[in-house]
Amino acid sequence: MDFQYSTYRIQLRHPFTISRSSKNFYDIVFIYLTDKGVTGVGEAAPSDRYNEKFNQILRTLQSISLDDIDESDPLEKQLDRIFERCQGYRSLMAAFDMALHDLRGKQNSTPLYDYFGANPDQTPVTSFTIGIDKLEVIQEKVEEAADFPILKIKLGTQDDKAIINTIRNVTDKKIRVDANEGWNLDEALRMCEWLEKKNVEFVEQPLPASNIEDSEKLKEQSPLKLIADENCMNSTDIPKIRNAFDGINIKLMKCGGLFEALKMIRLARENDLEIMLGCMVESSVAITAAAHLSPLVDYADLDGNVLIKNDPYIGVRLKEGKLLLPIEPGLGVQIRTKNKES
Ligand code: MG
Repeated sequence: MDFQYSTYRIQLRHPFTISRSSKNFYDIVFIYLTDKGVTGVGEAAPSDRYNEKFNQILRTLQSISLDDIDESDPLEKQLDRIFERCQGYRSLMAAFDMALHDLRGKQNSTPLYDYFGANPDQTPVTSFTIGIDKLEVIQEKVEEAADFPILKIKLGTQDDKAIINTIRNVTDKKIRVDANEGWNLDEALRMCEWLEKKNVEFVEQPLPASNIEDSEKLKEQSPLKLIADENCMNSTDIPKIRNAFDGINIKLMKCGGLFEALKMIRLARENDLEIMLGCMVESSVAITAAAHLSPLVDYADLDGNVLIKNDPYIGVRLKEGKLLLPIEPGLGVQIRTKNKES
């Protein structure tokens, strides 16, 4: 199988700040797999939080050859053999996994949602993420997000209550909160009790991932549901956190792709955990890949492509926040041209 890759710098509409970092751009890698004249595309958006760096991804790619991959093998076997060469980098595994799913979908004339047995009419509404910012900027961002019925608010700052009050001065729409490990047990409990009165649906990752014991205590007392993000990388984490959270946030860049994400969906259901599909700041390639799984989950937070101003692809679209899947085979993404929407 032939493969190529290219690098791309995605520029953010606003600097994106969460409790541990602030960024204006992210460097990503697109991977292209070609077999018998058909090409599939995938994306790696490495995250510092998971100790994955753009340069490491590039160095690893330079060492990879897929010449010995047997295209007649089942997709899972081909993926296993490719993953062995990814040196554990989940975002790189996700990129190959996406590209191979796209390629096979195109060869079989099947949109990915069909391949996953997902009903495209049952996609959820995605939330729109508001990063940490000055209160007046947060207010502007909330106004810009008028088309989105659900907001996801990044907290874990000294001004958490002021941030929520500022938003509540402008809108009463549903809020999800993501503390990105920014609280301790006392703060988390006080905030969950306070947020419950503010039309907040759930709280994502209130405590540091290293502190599962306190998360278990918090879950017993919190009036709001708790969703694991940093505490749930892939399916192997699910049994460990089932008593500490009410649900999990699956991200392709954390877990290593669609195949593992499907495994997580099945395992979460067996453990009575709710499921959110989330993302990093990513282009429409990776967001569309995740969106094909979205009819199988409870919540979507797939707005990474909306936060950037130079998305090179078009794929999943939004109507008042609802994800509209492309019907073309594979991922169904296309390169954005001037004649297509901006
Ligand atoms: Mg999160």
